Amino acid sequence: MAKRDPNQGRKRIRTCDTMEEHRRLAYLYPEYRRRRREIELETREFIARYAEEGLRTGIVRIPVVVHVVWNTAAQNVSDAQIQSQINVLNADFRRTNADAGSVPAAFAGVAADTRIEFALAVRDPTCGATNGITRTNTATTGFTKATKNNLKSAATGGADPWPSDRYLNIWVGNFTDTLLGSASFPGGPAALDGFVVDTEAFGTIGTATAPFNLGRTATHEIGHWLNLLHIWGDDQGLADTCSQSDECGDTPNQGIMNFGTPAFPHVTCSNGPNGDMFMNYMDYVDDAAMFMFTQDQATRMNATLSVARVGILASDGLVPAGATPGPDLWMQDNADDTGAEPDPSANPMWISDDIWVRNSPDGLTNQDHQNPNGEQLNYVYVRVRNRACPGTGSQSGTLKLYWAKASSSLSWPAPWDGSVTAPALMGELIGSQPVTVAGGSQQILSFNWTPPDPSDYASFGADKAHFCLLARIETSATSPFGMTTAETSNLYANVQNNNNIVWKNISIVDTDGDGMRYADIVIGNFGGERRSTRLIFETPKRRGASLFDWGHILVDFRGVLEKWARGGIKGDGFEQLADGRLFIAQAGAQIQSPQLKRGRFGTLHVQFVPDGRRPTGAQVFELDVTEVDNKGKRIGGQRLLFKTTAGRRRPCWDQQLRTFDGVTWMAKCHDECGCGCK
Ligand SMILES: [Zn+2]
Repeated sequence: MAKRDPNQGRKRIRTCDTMEEHRRLAYLYPEYRRRRREIELETREFIARYAEEGLRTGIVRIPVVVHVVWNTAAQNVSDAQIQSQINVLNADFRRTNADAGSVPAAFAGVAADTRIEFALAVRDPTCGATNGITRTNTATTGFTKATKNNLKSAATGGADPWPSDRYLNIWVGNFTDTLLGSASFPGGPAALDGFVVDTEAFGTIGTATAPFNLGRTATHEIGHWLNLLHIWGDDQGLADTCSQSDECGDTPNQGIMNFGTPAFPHVTCSNGPNGDMFMNYMDYVDDAAMFMFTQDQATRMNATLSVARVGILASDGLVPAGATPGPDLWMQDNADDTGAEPDPSANPMWISDDIWVRNSPDGLTNQDHQNPNGEQLNYVYVRVRNRACPGTGSQSGTLKLYWAKASSSLSWPAPWDGSVTAPALMGELIGSQPVTVAGGSQQILSFNWTPPDPSDYASFGADKAHFCLLARIETSATSPFGMTTAETSNLYANVQNNNNIVWKNISIVDTDGDGMRYADIVIGNFGGERRSTRLIFETPKRRGASLFDWGHILVDFRGVLEKWARGGIKGDGFEQLADGRLFIAQAGAQIQSPQLKRGRFGTLHVQFVPDGRRPTGAQVFELDVTEVDNKGKRIGGQRLLFKTTAGRRRPCWDQQLRTFDGVTWMAKCHDECGCGCK
């Protein structure tokens, strides 16, 4: 390993001692070895079981606490520098980093949006308000690889960790040797869990120093914290440097680590013509030379969040503590929602991740949404939270869950109450359960649900698997049922105004077998009066690739809308083709909605058509079809999302199970894994 350059006093090459720390713990603690082995097997089993679902549908946002441990004022990095680091993490993990387009074409097809985000905690472990930053003035003038864990305890000149099952702990300190960072794999002692990073390799401003001033040390270390291995397999000390794997099938086998800013391609281990994937965050190159995770890495990190770090999904670290009056049951509209009433976020109200459907009763293990299977038993899960502090008492209520046919124009209480039965049943109560949740905690409730017969909807062209779901917690038996703002027929406002109503209109877009993807959205009139509305085709705001970088959409009209569409569609941002279909190549297209009589329904059939441009990698593209009133206010809508790479049957390990760092893995094969384990 490199020594600090005495002339420059700077770190010249990347040094991460996560593996050395892992070996140290494995040597000292048999329990750690046992736990690591168990986690590896559970992770592989999870990946094998869910391979075909591909990327996570929802978003996970991880609460972060940054412990700044400083001796000189210069080491006391600013809040702005800390925020610059959080921004880098969100860009890198969501693949909205400005240099994402620098990935060589040979690897662009597997570059991934991991669907993982980060935010500084706003609630500390004792339920106090926090900015997610602690500052400790230490007498220790510098830390080294050997003394790095001193940073993690107040008793040794550092700062104590926050509970590692609810927060990602980051310690920023002054390292006087070559170390940039060192992380804990899942399964280690809680008191040491998280990662340490040098002030020169943290964030993008202030003390951040080239070539490690782009925040990528933290990206790399969090890769380890979510159980990623170095991309070369850590076999640099072995006679055969091609022998070990990072357990990810879409990263080429490579010899040893790369440093600096290598030229593409760099061939080792017969991995030509494309060579090493040295631009991966899990190699050792400079910050400016690394800019991707792969799909299998994303899968492995997400599996870790379901297996060894599942506590993060239940953390209340991002729920403000200060304004919490007392017990308050609530559910989250979207990742930005903290339970405030009304929800001030600019996101649509129909994308809650607190409701998810599973085709098997496995929704506690895999807390991610699948489309329901028509006419079969499905399982719907709802996460109910209590915003109050732990120990301040519980609240009880009744959780009611409803379905409706996927539609842009839903109102309340019809069609959810089962009152719309023509041309087919358009919605109904799925079930009702009592729920009691203690302050600061949450509970997941499960409902059995068999969606109605798909053929009932054939008359107006709706497809079989797309439904909307609505969950309401009533904390009183009499109107307004405990709602802060009494409900009206404006469902959108009901959801926005009350934190105990959430709504999910998310359909994962199907493939028709020809590489085309499609979805159907019902347009209709549930309420009675004819309304003048517009439909807007929007993509959620993000800096990275959008749906329309991948291709375009074609919309045709079915059922009663067919004749209406032939009369010419008013609006802008689209082209109407001779056959009546709409061709839409950019976000923001809008059309005047048809004015339908009560009880009349038709369908928008939306096709997603790739135009074969540069590969977009593994992403989840989102399209919101939003209905707005004549003042431009949202009244309803539907999110369609599709994954640009399908899951594969054998993700994430490209070699036989083998001896990994002194532990011989027991080969254990899930029925569906097809991985050739023996
Ligand atoms: Zn590392």
